[in-house]
Amino acid sequence: MMVDIKKVTSLLQEVVGPNRVTDKKFDLIPYSRDLSPAAQKIPTHVVLPESREEIQTILKIANSHEIPVYIRGGGTSHWDAYLPQEPGIMLDMGRLNKVIEINTRDLVATVQPNCTWAKLDRELRKQGLTYLCSEAGGPAMTVGGSVMKAGGGPHSTAKFGFHGNQDIISLEMVLPNGDVVETGSAAWPSAGKFKRQCLGPDLAGMFIGAEGILGVCTELTLRVRPTTDISERLTATMKTLDDVIEFGHFINQHVGDEYMQGIYLWVAPTAPEVLFLMMDIFGYEQEIVDHRKKMIIAKINELGGEIGDRAPADDYFGRILTGLTDLFNTGVWHFFGAGSLRIDDITFLYRIWKEELIEKRGYTKAGFGGQILPRDWLAFMVTNYKEPEEWKELVKIAHEIDEITLNGPVVPYGIGGRDGLRSFVAERNTGYYRLLKTLKKTLDPKNILQRGIFIPEEELQ
Ligand SMILES: Cc1cc2nc3c(=O)[nH]c(=O)nc-3n(C[C@H](O)[C@H](O)[C@H](O)COP(=O)(O)OP(=O)(O)OC[C@H]3O[C@@H](n4cnc5c(N)ncnc54)[C@H](O)[C@@H]3O)c2cc1C
Repeated sequence: MMVDIKKVTSLLQEVVGPNRVTDKKFDLIPYSRDLSPAAQKIPTHVVLPESREEIQTILKIANSHEIPVYIRGGGTSHWDAYLPQEPGIMLDMGRLNKVIEINTRDLVATVQPNCTWAKLDRELRKQGLTYLCSEAGGPAMTVGGSVMKAGGGPHSTAKFGFHGNQDIISLEMVLPNGDVVETGSAAWPSAGKFKRQCLGPDLAGMFIGAEGILGVCTELTLRVRPTTDISERLTATMKTLDDVIEFGHFINQHVGDEYMQGIYLWVAPTAPEVLFLMMDIFGYEQEIVDHRKKMIIAKINELGGEIGDRAPADDYFGRILTGLTDLFNTGVWHFFGAGSLRIDDITFLYRIWKEELIEKRGYTKAGFGGQILPRDWLAFMVTNYKEPEEWKELVKIAHEIDEITLNGPVVPYGIGGRDGLRSFVAERNTGYYRLLKTLKKTLDPKNILQRGIFIPEEELQ
């Protein structure tokens, strides 16, 4: 269907006024790329809603004119997750960025979706609280963007898992038809927002990780916790990957998840045998943290690893929220074969990295990394590039490597559109995928929201 650009502009202007909508190419171009080699995709309009009600009306207009709507949070994802796969409206959620409430008694905070993690943490710390969990995407990444794609990072996910695993209490979502739904205890408005799982099925779980295809998130309530002044960090170099695996099992089985806030494994392409670990130990009392540290050091020594200088771990974990600018300065990030896998299966991904990427294809720029989450890994091969000519080669190799890894024990996350991992998911005709399609068709019969993201358009005919 052809979009009548001027007509839609005037309808959107009726909702948000003249200054928060544009159809001018000059304004649209900055929204046409994400942080990946994905092809440029220009929206027809960009609109900046300021309220749930405005989003409801925009979705109703989009439905009656059958125009796709795409949702951009902080815009730091890098797998074609919000770019307009078809001409359509881009919702820039940037104005919905407030901390709505911090409840110091129940230890929950309610935010608008485009509140950044950095802003939330700054406000929480004024009250002796923190969120702890965080990814490495820098100060622009938002709570809503992270939760909608179920992010998880090197910091704190060892203890708390992916965003949304345990900490999301309730979501407020605008469905593709403009209806509003609140999940968890918030579904019982007279009770308030304090519990995720109470009334019926866990509807928050249905939206977390869906990359916006089932609704626009307009509010999130999440668990927060007291800050701790105690900071113990370690680095270690392990001799073999088997030792790293044993150490991962030790953390999970023998001493318990609560020991570690973050573990980050990094292997540089120039030294594939050097397995470097950075660790952030968790605890509120010095004696407890000292005990944990002692146990961890003893295990590393028993495995023949070598404890190193703590400074790199301090630097890394200390700057995650405020911005690891050097990560950005090295160029655009691109991943090959990234995803979740069992602790023992890290050897599979490491082997593909070393044999298929470095030795067979001669791509010697990508490093290998991983974060131990409670009981599994989020692992990846990652490169940086600056020269646009590198794109094609990079995308081709990444596709080949993804083919191999996703046929193995790696579960992808961060699906996105046609320049992301969409085709790999669509290829698998599983009950999961069939149910997802049924949900999408039911909630969004005209396929308005995030058309072509996660599920190809033709799969919904
Ligand atoms: C250097 C670097 C390091 C990174 N490290 C990590 C890491 O350690 N772990 C990790 O998980 N990611 C990482 N990322 C990726 C990215 O930063 C995170 O995924 C981040 O959580 C995305 O947040 P965002 O606000 O930028 O979301 P966006 O990129 O804007 O959006 C992400 C997805 O959520 C959807 N969405 C956004 N807002 C809403 C809403 N209100 N309602 C419904 N859907 C919505 C979008 O359409 C899109 O599909 C990294 C990125 C970079 C550049």
